[in-house]
Amino acid sequence: MQETQSPEVAVIGCGGTLSSLGTSSLDLMDYPEHGSKLSIGELLARIPEVATVASVMAVPFRSVGSTNITPADWFELRATLHRLAREQPQLKGFVIVHGTATLEETAFFLNLTLDIAQTVVLVGAQRPFSAVSSDAPMNLLGALQVAKARQSRGRGVLVVLNDEIHASRDVVKTSTLRLNTFRSAESGALGVIDADGIHFYRRVDRPHAPATDFADMPDAPALPRVDIVYSYAGADETFIEAAIAKGARGIVSAGLAPGIPTGAEKVALEAAVRSGIAVVQCSRAPSGRVAGRRYLLEHGVIPGEDFSPQKARILLALGLARTDRLDQLRAWFKQY
Ligand code: GLU
Repeated sequence: MQETQSPEVAVIGCGGTLSSLGTSSLDLMDYPEHGSKLSIGELLARIPEVATVASVMAVPFRSVGSTNITPADWFELRATLHRLAREQPQLKGFVIVHGTATLEETAFFLNLTLDIAQTVVLVGAQRPFSAVSSDAPMNLLGALQVAKARQSRGRGVLVVLNDEIHASRDVVKTSTLRLNTFRSAESGALGVIDADGIHFYRRVDRPHAPATDFADMPDAPALPRVDIVYSYAGADETFIEAAIAKGARGIVSAGLAPGIPTGAEKVALEAAVRSGIAVVQCSRAPSGRVAGRRYLLEHGVIPGEDFSPQKARILLALGLARTDRLDQLRAWFKQY
């Protein structure tokens, strides 16, 4: 690994499939429980091509599957990025090596809260580093190129996998095992990475780091509890009441498309709103908006727009950390 005095890109290790070693080169499934993980330094040392793309520094952060990444980790990661940007002003960008399971959530949180100008790219892989035909090395090399490139600046936090560059606001993990799992359903990728370099085709029009209402948040506030309740035929009030009993200040309803909970859930959600809990109506469908239809507005429910339930949860938690005002929360959902 090339580790220079003045690195261009800091590579922060969180673990995940990209850093994983399976029990054999054909272990594509059992490695989370039966394999091991390379440290970020070991990983970079095993990919000599890294030196041809960028001078890098390895920053160990976590070595876990992303199923174990929590909001407390998000805040610590954000503080780490702020510190590195301050201490190493020559850095052009950051690459965060992260498991794919919650990658889009970490990326969207950083997209809403970071206060640095450098490019931040999250990267993962679908096949462990040790697998035959692993996507790990090429995904990492692509992420390094994007993090270093001048044209990546000012586009918010980015996600790179499978030769594509996605906006953290829009991207969703859509497939358990396919290599092309990360898709931006309605809007498409921002760009691609080919052998002749990076090619961007569009920009995100919505606010993103560092110009957001959340960029000046303190380092480690306790985020208010927000739970997601998933609708299905016959769903009743059980999980809504459980969330309230656990102290939720917000509930995201992953409703039946086009964004409507069942009758029993509706009654429980209306009662939640009356007791001062913020309720956001999303849909369990993988794409499409939940618009501000009359019922939602009359009952004080916030339309979830085109956010997936897991991203709406992050925006609502950050919003509730700032205010209880329904009109402001609703405005942020429309704006972001
Ligand atoms: N790809 C998963 C992740 O998000 C699972 C890998 C693991 O648990 O090591 O990290």
